[in-house]
Amino acid sequence: MKRISLFTLAFLSISISIFAQKPQKLASNQIYEKIQKLNFLGTALYIAAHPDDENTRLIAYLANHEKARMGYLSLTRGDGGQNLIGPEIRELLGVIRTQELLAARRIDGGQQFFTRANDFGYSKHPDETLEIWNKEKVMSDVVWAIRTFKPDVIINRFNHRTPGSTHGHHTASAMLSVAAFDLVGDKNQFKEQLEFTETWQPKRLFFNTSSWFYSNQAAFEKATKGKLTAFDVGIYYPLKGLSNNELASMASSQHLCQGFGRVTTRGSQNEYVAFLKGDKPKDKNDIFSGINTTWNRVKGGGEIGAILYKIETNFDFVKPFKHLPKLMEAYRMIQQLENTHWRAIKEKQIKEIIEACAGLYLEASADSHSGIPNATTDVNFEVVNRSTIAIELISITSTMDAKTITKELALETNKKVNFKETITLKTTKYSDPYWLRKKASLGMYRVDDQNLIGKPETPRPAKIHFNLRIDQVPIVITKNVVRRYAERDKGEIYEPFEILPKVTTRLQNKVLIFSDDVAKKVLVEVSAGADSIVGNIRLKVPKSWQVSPKEISFNISQKNDKQTVAFFITPPKNRSEGTLRVIATSAGKEYKKELIEINYSHIPKQTVLLGSQAKIVRLNIKSVGNKIGYIKGAGDAVPESLRQIGYKVTLLNPLEINGDNLQKYDAIVLGIRAYNVVKELKFKQKYLLAYVAKGGNLVVQYNTNRGVDVAAPFSLQLSRDRVTDEFAEVRILDEKHPVLNYPNKITPNDFKNWVQERGLYFPDSWSKEYTPILSMNDKGESKKNGSLLIAKYGKGNYIYTGLSFFRELPAGVSGAYKLFANLLSLGKQGAE
Ligand SMILES: [Zn+2]
Repeated sequence: MKRISLFTLAFLSISISIFAQKPQKLASNQIYEKIQKLNFLGTALYIAAHPDDENTRLIAYLANHEKARMGYLSLTRGDGGQNLIGPEIRELLGVIRTQELLAARRIDGGQQFFTRANDFGYSKHPDETLEIWNKEKVMSDVVWAIRTFKPDVIINRFNHRTPGSTHGHHTASAMLSVAAFDLVGDKNQFKEQLEFTETWQPKRLFFNTSSWFYSNQAAFEKATKGKLTAFDVGIYYPLKGLSNNELASMASSQHLCQGFGRVTTRGSQNEYVAFLKGDKPKDKNDIFSGINTTWNRVKGGGEIGAILYKIETNFDFVKPFKHLPKLMEAYRMIQQLENTHWRAIKEKQIKEIIEACAGLYLEASADSHSGIPNATTDVNFEVVNRSTIAIELISITSTMDAKTITKELALETNKKVNFKETITLKTTKYSDPYWLRKKASLGMYRVDDQNLIGKPETPRPAKIHFNLRIDQVPIVITKNVVRRYAERDKGEIYEPFEILPKVTTRLQNKVLIFSDDVAKKVLVEVSAGADSIVGNIRLKVPKSWQVSPKEISFNISQKNDKQTVAFFITPPKNRSEGTLRVIATSAGKEYKKELIEINYSHIPKQTVLLGSQAKIVRLNIKSVGNKIGYIKGAGDAVPESLRQIGYKVTLLNPLEINGDNLQKYDAIVLGIRAYNVVKELKFKQKYLLAYVAKGGNLVVQYNTNRGVDVAAPFSLQLSRDRVTDEFAEVRILDEKHPVLNYPNKITPNDFKNWVQERGLYFPDSWSKEYTPILSMNDKGESKKNGSLLIAKYGKGNYIYTGLSFFRELPAGVSGAYKLFANLLSLGKQGAE
């Protein structure tokens, strides 16, 4: 008999899985849902371009209501965006967004896949996107994802027929998906993949449409009336105590670095998919129509289904362990399946159910969060059988050294067994994100191992096989080695166990700017990955640069301890730029990596290895004025960049701004999106304008145009105009303007080597007091003249600029420094 009242007592999956690192311990309702999923043999794949593109309502619906195996293929990891929660950008942001996607999937019940495509930033047209990506390779990865995941149904987020109407990556994702649909089943396409997988033909392809893709709701209804498959994605799940859309909002709220935290929603709501290709469903409202999604789908599956459907119907929520004998019987039959695809999937699913029904707790927790190749590490084991079923622990096998340690322990009900073993980390590889191991291009990450392509993260290298006998049946349950400990103010913490280098080094600044030929001191922090590490550090610089001393020795006695060494770098007399590399040598081996840890509470701790290096730039730059007041907006590294070229930058607390304390600054600069995020600014505007009127320089960097008033002294209309092509020609409109002449002469050459884009959210109309200085545009678009506007106001200058200084300065772009120095020097000609 099912005891419905217990549902409400059951612990919710959601509250557990938010602590991403912690092992999932399933309550009865969750075990029951896992059994429902075990008994559904249908698969759907959702395809789009970025983290946050995915429709979590539809993914959650198909995974939880339909019980389908559900995947999301995001072509990129979202490396090109901005980070609202910390300083990580580019590949490190991609690491965070990868984990945010995984966190979202833990909630909505999907799996996550990627291609090697690099999110190089905003792209207005899929033609441009597919030129910068390697189209053939991304196509190969889409085909690979389909052939390995083997979906019955594919759903595109975007419309493949409307290039130019959204981000080029979006349309490209749909175009590639549509094209891949016709290639995946052909054994002559991407033949090299067939060494590892088979061809696969999905049954049908849909487009997840909505009124967003039409001019308005009425147009949507008119165009699509009766033609679409509709789902009520607001459906309520009593087993969870949640509506599907609540679940979906919780999932998409994991995209915190994109500011996607949001309130949950409830109530009936429709999602629509439009049929594009393949076998048209007979039952319009069932995307799996005509596809056998029962156990009979697999040869030999019928008898397995006979056992498992019975368990589903008669599930005992109070004593789930009662089902173990039958589950073990089904497990043995699953192991015999000829179909290796379904065998692997169902084996994994049923093992999880068996483990949960037995209340079996298996843990392998290392003494430390990392080890180095070929060293040993101590691992603490905990094994508890919390059921009355006979379970024996026969042995354990470490995947790192393939060593099996015999145990032969009968696990008595609820008697905890603890033991400690030493394992050898036999490997030559580190556990860092695999796609960052080789140098990437603008459009592509480089991954040569076909079996890694598509995986969301590097498979954990250190695992333990627990070789058990449950109710007489041998079964192997595998667990990752973790690091478990407690912090008094945080509680219990689980972290992944990492394999890391013996020595890592870190340069404090990733870009070193020399505005003259004076030597600069450069500090290198050396970290030990094990006890008693000795060695030498040296720096490699381009020809014409000098470094002293040649080499510095270090000696670190304890693991994770650090030592800092100092070098002096002298730049050449003239303009030059290159790369500074740190090389550590220990016991005859070279170590060239920096270790970066990313630690946020909504995702597991991440450990990334990047080349230990910095860009070094010798500028020919002049500046007038030195004291800069900086009001931080959404966060940018412009203040650090200005300090590097000798400015004294004071971060101003907006609350403390008044009529008196601004006068001492040679210029006041507002960080990116300051008016969007600093609410107090609106009340301080009068002081800022008074400062300008008395002769000051106010530099306002870009704000987004959504509901914001930048309160400029003369009218200015923000727009969404942007120039995303960093190579777009920059035309000078007012050659004589001081900003292009003093103290540095700015020429078109200074717009070479910019990164990612020219600028964004340019004003598109302004009053006559402003002088537009530059003109630029993306290919095929009208001229955009609002990137840099300057107006005289009283005795001073008001400057509004959407140029991407926040990207260019930290990247060490020499022309951007010269232009910014000129902005800060405006009006000071003759005052030297
Ligand atoms: Zn997107």
